[in-house]
Amino acid sequence: MSQDHILVFDTTLRDGEQSPGASLGVSEKLIIAEQLARLRVDAIEAGFPVSSQAQFDGVRLAASQIKGPAIVALARCIDKDIDVAWEALKPAQRPRIHTFVATSKIHMEKKFRKSEDEILEMAVAGVKRAKSYCEDVEFSPEDSARTGLEFLLRIVEAAIKAGATVINIPDTVGFAMPEQFGALIRTVRERVPNIHKAILSVHCHNDLGLAVANTLAAVHNGAQQVEVTVNGVGERAGNASLEEVVMALKTRVDFYGKSTNIDTREILRTSKLVSTLMGIPVQPNKAIVGSNAFAHESGIHQDAVIKDATTYEIMSPQDIGLQSNAIVLGRHSGRHGLKMRLMELGYNLPAPELDHVYQRFLEIADRKKEVFDEDLLALMSNETMETKETWSLAYFHILSGNQTVPTATVGLTHGEETVQEAAVGDGPVDAAYRALDRMINLPVTLQDYSLRGVTGGKDALGEVFVRVRHEGVTWLGRGASTDIIEASIRAYLHALNRILAAQVPGKHE
Ligand SMILES: [Zn+2]
Repeated sequence: MSQDHILVFDTTLRDGEQSPGASLGVSEKLIIAEQLARLRVDAIEAGFPVSSQAQFDGVRLAASQIKGPAIVALARCIDKDIDVAWEALKPAQRPRIHTFVATSKIHMEKKFRKSEDEILEMAVAGVKRAKSYCEDVEFSPEDSARTGLEFLLRIVEAAIKAGATVINIPDTVGFAMPEQFGALIRTVRERVPNIHKAILSVHCHNDLGLAVANTLAAVHNGAQQVEVTVNGVGERAGNASLEEVVMALKTRVDFYGKSTNIDTREILRTSKLVSTLMGIPVQPNKAIVGSNAFAHESGIHQDAVIKDATTYEIMSPQDIGLQSNAIVLGRHSGRHGLKMRLMELGYNLPAPELDHVYQRFLEIADRKKEVFDEDLLALMSNETMETKETWSLAYFHILSGNQTVPTATVGLTHGEETVQEAAVGDGPVDAAYRALDRMINLPVTLQDYSLRGVTGGKDALGEVFVRVRHEGVTWLGRGASTDIIEASIRAYLHALNRILAAQVPGKHE
């Protein structure tokens, strides 16, 4: 590996998926993994296989389908974790087991009640076991930023001696400051005698808003791999954002002198895909991928940008794949046009699914003359490809107004039969949800409801995200339509169908 090259390790599917309220189905994970491969990340951390059947299946599927990037599975330094991780990773072209143990005083004492020597033994045993399965082994001393320096250096050296090929230094709780974290990385480089035998990696959290700054400080001090997520999603305040780290390195190559393999023109598309599938919107002023990131409001700026973009733009919008809202499809676009556009957006559909999506596309194109990429993404996220639709929407009728009691009549098909219920509520959505509850009869509470216009204009597609809670677990539902009541019904139904699909006997969790 060249000294001037930084490896990008994406953990959107593992750490990112631990974002509160984000839950991805297995086929959604695969769609994201395929897009990450197109973005040309060097490694994809696909999950934590021992933690659930769904996590195992997600890693397994990525391992068998994705070519190019290394596929990584997380495991504690525990035999069973490592064995299960390997089981899931086996089909991968480039498998990597990522094993970790907590090394900070507070974690060792409170979580494990173990001494430094005992933790070091666990680490060495874990790395050796992983190495017995696979050549590429990453080791992380969890909570490194709060770990005693001498112990950190000792455990890193021991892990490399045991066979670790990548050493990752995580700031698990987002506690580090940039100068301090940079100095830590420099110290690891200078004082661990065998460090040249491994790739030095960092993994920063954003609790104080410093994940990207800490990551860049580490790169400046010799880190060779960055662990990041798309849109910065992740536990609590999230991880270092892929697009910010990559574009900082690219834009300030004069300062860092480093390059990555990333095809930056795929950045925006990846951001939108992840946002839609996870149901986590991107704030408008978010660096790089926010909707305002390249918008110039002030007249003086606009005027100057028209004369020469570099007056106020340090990056070009084309570099991240932003095109000025080109109309992509309309009513007269054929099935082939739709298929090609969907492939460019990351969806490769087999014929039967394409037929189904095409029908939904025509319904939307009929009501809305111009269909944008955003509309297609919303439509696709509404296609519950892996969720068996136990109940599907047949029809609905709403009576609403400011001087009447909102009433909804909803018809659902369930197998061969169609059932119908009516209910009144505070508003049309409430009434419709009550009607659905009467038919489906699952004990759920609605935790969150949000509606957004997918594109501008009065005929815009409305996209609804709901989060419902059932037996202590939160489920995401999505729905899109030019009619916001329909989008609302579809979103709620999607969430309920997901819960029902997970309850099918034989599907273990
Ligand atoms: Zn993390």
